[in-house]
Amino acid sequence: MTHVLHRQIRHAYPAATLGRGMTIRDAAGKEYIDASGGAAVSCLGHSDPDVLAALHAQIDRLDYAHTGFFTTAAAEELADEMIRHAPAGIGHVYFTSGGSEGVEAALKLARQYFVERGEPQRRHFVARLQSYHGNTLGALSVGGNLWRRRPFEPILLGNVHHVSPCYEYRGRRSDETPETYGERLAQELADKIDALGGDKVIAFIAETVVGATLGAVLPVPGYFRRVREICDRHGILLILDEVMCGIGRTGTLHACEQEGVAPDLMVVAKGLGGGYAPIGAVMVNERIVQALADGSGAFQHGHTYMGHPLACAAALAVQRVIRRDDLLANVRRQGDHLARRLNERFGNHPFVGDVRGRGLFQAIELVADRGTKEPFDPALKLHARVKQAAMERGLMVYPMGGTVDGARGDHVLLAPPFIVDPAAIDTIVERLSEAVDAAIAAAGK
Ligand code: PLP
Repeated sequence: MTHVLHRQIRHAYPAATLGRGMTIRDAAGKEYIDASGGAAVSCLGHSDPDVLAALHAQIDRLDYAHTGFFTTAAAEELADEMIRHAPAGIGHVYFTSGGSEGVEAALKLARQYFVERGEPQRRHFVARLQSYHGNTLGALSVGGNLWRRRPFEPILLGNVHHVSPCYEYRGRRSDETPETYGERLAQELADKIDALGGDKVIAFIAETVVGATLGAVLPVPGYFRRVREICDRHGILLILDEVMCGIGRTGTLHACEQEGVAPDLMVVAKGLGGGYAPIGAVMVNERIVQALADGSGAFQHGHTYMGHPLACAAALAVQRVIRRDDLLANVRRQGDHLARRLNERFGNHPFVGDVRGRGLFQAIELVADRGTKEPFDPALKLHARVKQAAMERGLMVYPMGGTVDGARGDHVLLAPPFIVDPAAIDTIVERLSEAVDAAIAAAGK
């Protein structure tokens, strides 16, 4: 009998007891290859010696100091490191304890910026369907996944408006190029903003590469540049949620680098601390900080554990290892290998409609019919079957349902640690292939 309210109340979870490199071991001694880094978290794998040493050193010096009283070397050095490699215009970092908290802070900071500038009439957020921005109420409000929103709909923010995701596999018409498809979506955003009033909108928020809810869906070329132009035309802030796709996951430190845009606010989290400690951050454009500095002098927000010295020390060590070992080069190299292997194995699979992603952030979308792209019956819960079949084979992947519209569709997301090598990738794809086939067979297909 457990007293933990687990995610699935009726499911018996194995107990994780040991993490080493690419693997987690459970209490029964079974080993699992962590091919999803949990939920795209463990970018260095488990038990990295330099991160452990940094954590030990920090706890021996200082456990905790409230940010209302003190700053710490750990927070200052981490912020310095992040700003050294930040997108253009970003000059400050606001620490949180995770992604949802980061999104909440970004939404509030965006609103307060306009209040301080004398534009209090700005009250709307525009976001995209099929996005995930976290589970706290503000983050869930801007999120566009219908299944996650549904039970809470009456208590979500009423000032959030959704436009279509940039989801080429299902959204692009046969008479469109990727570029004209992106143009159509940008026009939809422009029309939505015009309908609300350009001077009434605070921000547009989007995941640069969509993670959990769509499965490693890339923007089409030029899409974010058009989005940036539209936001700038109206003085609307662009908030990029790189909680999952950022901090090296797609082969550059920030995913937006590959889209040629710099956001006004960017939220990062998972790969920042790599799972060694709970931490997230909002990276903030200087003109936002300046507006507050010239006005009230404070961001009207805060949490007890923000900038926790242990979390900052862990994240600083993670970022230093990534840089010292040039792990982003390995992300790009192994990402190419992973894409090759996935395409070899699933490119002609009768029940795989799409293989997609970038760097070590890749996914397959499962379909009942490749020709029509018809998804499987959601009642089959194919994604849950794949997860279970993979776990039985000692493999952690991150499958999710509701890919198409929040109810129908299944995909499997892969996000292995940046230390992965070709042999491990071959094993991952092999086991995933077996798990997918076993799950489909068990679903009676
Ligand atoms: N934003 C994105 C894009 C995410 O993928 C997630 C988590 O999966 C979040 C926000 C929420 O982060 P957290 O679970 O740390 O609150």
